[in-house]
Amino acid sequence: MNSAPPVEFETVVMKFGGTSVADAEGIKRAAGRIVQAAEAGSRVVAVLSARGKTTDDLMAMAHEVSLRPHPREMDMLLSTGERISCALAAMVINDLGHEAISLTGSQAGIVTDTSHTKARILDVRADRIRSALDGGKIVLVAGFQGVSTTADVTTLGRGGSDTTAVALAAALAADVCEIYTDVAGVFSADPRIVPDARMLAVVSFEEMLEMSASGAGVLQLRAVEYARNNGIPIHCRSSFDDGPGTFVVDEHTTMERPLVTAVTHSIDEARVTLTGLPDRPGIAGRVLTVLAAAMVNVDMIIQNEPQSEDHRADMSVTVPRADLLAATEALTPLKAELGVGEIATDEAMGKVSLVGAGMRSHPGVAAKALTVLGDAGVNIEMISTSPIKISCVIREEHVKDAVRELHTAFGLGKGAVRHEDVAGDHRPIIEPEGGDEPGEEDDPGEAP
Ligand code: ASP
Ligand code: MG
Repeated sequence: MNSAPPVEFETVVMKFGGTSVADAEGIKRAAGRIVQAAEAGSRVVAVLSARGKTTDDLMAMAHEVSLRPHPREMDMLLSTGERISCALAAMVINDLGHEAISLTGSQAGIVTDTSHTKARILDVRADRIRSALDGGKIVLVAGFQGVSTTADVTTLGRGGSDTTAVALAAALAADVCEIYTDVAGVFSADPRIVPDARMLAVVSFEEMLEMSASGAGVLQLRAVEYARNNGIPIHCRSSFDDGPGTFVVDEHTTMERPLVTAVTHSIDEARVTLTGLPDRPGIAGRVLTVLAAAMVNVDMIIQNEPQSEDHRADMSVTVPRADLLAATEALTPLKAELGVGEIATDEAMGKVSLVGAGMRSHPGVAAKALTVLGDAGVNIEMISTSPIKISCVIREEHVKDAVRELHTAFGLGKGAVRHEDVAGDHRPIIEPEGGDEPGEEDDPGEAP
């Protein structure tokens, strides 16, 4: 393979996803990339995910022996997947003649709160990493895990290795956090649904936040949040080739403001409807407080004003399907407490969203989107908007069609002419050490 020499950064964090390290060949490929960056003169920290389906397999193992695996023990179990990847990669790197050291999240100084299986990072005490780097070592850190303030192993939620990588990049003041994955970058829609989807050269943090929150699986939401808050540019790229990938950067660094950047979707939604709620101040707050205490992430909320004399309101919320049981369990006591009528659930919900920074200043996007869905015979159950996003909850079975229709209607495909584009190179400026021309060195001259 004729791979281009990497850009020389002073410090780089490179994260490899599960598919990228699924087999021996993948571990060696990742190790090769890591060594290449080190040989180009960078201080390199690599964060690895668990191999292939390891995390799913470990979860299945737990559910084979326990109906409700204890969260602390679940974290002990799940954290092993990432450790395997790091130890193996360190072996390869050592064989390649470089010094490597693998660290658990705890050893790497990732301190979290105590909420097992979805812990939040509170602090990164990166002294051990720093001294290893000072000693000329390549540091491998097990992703997705940390140690709680009460000294227990925690994990950061599915896809959490992205967050580990960004948090380390922030703590080490890295030039960039490179996320190596099994796709070429961030796309205008899921290419498995829309073959014509276009890879995006640059996406702003704000757009990426909305995209991750609305179903784009390529980057974990928390990682994007962390990157935005700390100004860490993310470079999302394939670990299998030298394609240019997608940069996720500050909005003022991006040169284009497309009306719509991407169509995202999710099929993991469930709806909970509480009927006959008393119509008085504080009730909605009480419902949401109960859900928050059960660690259920509420997405959309709709409350209907009472239509009848009895002053009873209805409220619907959407939650991740995986949290539906927790949500109904948490809400059931409210029946007695508040005199709620019914708690109805619907599991087969999906969501389609349009995201684009240009929406802020252009009216009419919602009107067009809703018309497109209507013309396609898709019934819209709930709608929510942000300044740069429109989301519609629809039946799960309509999601694929809705994505395709919107993608076409807003001209997002490879073939479509995009009037919002500015001419030329959209790659943002990430100053490499030495001030070389940005984006030149790691541009693939040709396909391998
Ligand atoms: N292995 C964990 C997961 O599958 C974390 C990650 O891959 O980032 O969710
Ligand atoms: Mg993963």
